[in-house]
Amino acid sequence: MFVISIAIPKGGEGKTTTAVNLAASLAAAEKRTLLIDADTLGASGISLGYTADQVKSGLYDVFNYTHSLSQVIYKTELTHLDFVPANISTVLMEERLLRLSENRTVIKMALHEVERLYDYVIIDCPPTLRGITTNALCASNSVIAPMRASHFSLDALMRLMKYLKWIRGVSNPQIYVEGILLTMFEPNTKITEITLRELKNHYSKFLFKIVIPKNSTLAEATFYGRPALLYNINSRGARAYFGLATELISRESSIAGIEDAPGGRKLSQRRISHLSADGNPQNPDPEKTETN
Ligand code: ATP
Ligand code: MG
Repeated sequence: MFVISIAIPKGGEGKTTTAVNLAASLAAAEKRTLLIDADTLGASGISLGYTADQVKSGLYDVFNYTHSLSQVIYKTELTHLDFVPANISTVLMEERLLRLSENRTVIKMALHEVERLYDYVIIDCPPTLRGITTNALCASNSVIAPMRASHFSLDALMRLMKYLKWIRGVSNPQIYVEGILLTMFEPNTKITEITLRELKNHYSKFLFKIVIPKNSTLAEATFYGRPALLYNINSRGARAYFGLATELISRESSIAGIEDAPGGRKLSQRRISHLSADGNPQNPDPEKTETN
């Protein structure tokens, strides 16, 4: 089982869109996939067609120790895709969840129960680093940072990179950056050009080859409660996310071929050294670090 957090401490960067459509694409490629909605707004659930009244239990109950993870798993339209909703309906619940998530190992411990049931777990994080994102990062093998071309997105990326260093020190030494994913990509604009130049200067080894184009189908599909590949499989958005899933799967199989070890610590270490000496950006210059 391979656990990937989709995280960046800024709203509207395409985290939920990436989590839902990457998870759906992995499932379409017959990888047994679990999507966990760790954002209290519940946008992943909405994107999969779940309304609040259909969700009776979820991640909140796992943090509250009233349910185990397997008791809060829901089926989706895709055979190989299961889903854990956030199920937060009040501000009080949200505050309580923040307190409960101070125990950084809740998600990690909960995942042990389903270890053999899934090939991939994708966690959709909120746009902050504290609390539940920290919990998700402590449980993850790697992180995908989706971002738009913008100055503030670069700032958020730097904060994430610095925070990952802290996470490695306190709780999860193995976590590494799976990749930086450019979302809502519009070629030939000045802002895209500047952002790409900055990314190539500081984080070039982390950039995914695939970019996700700005594509209205991705936004439209959420109104129908379906991942883009079930709404319009030929759309550029659906195809881009399928390309991302294919890139991830091919990384796994090429490394498994070398190591003869599909998954686990040995694989993670191999991947860390492949990316960089310590998994950090070449030239991090974060203005600010959030700590838990
Ligand atoms: P938050 O931090 O608030 O949870 P987020 O990072 O999860 O935000 P999304 O909800 O995935 O961001 O995306 C923000 C908005 O942009 C949504 O309305 C979504 O439908 C739209 N969107 C995301 N990716 C694309 C894309 N590639 N093309 C067009 N629209 C997109
Ligand atoms: Mg979101």
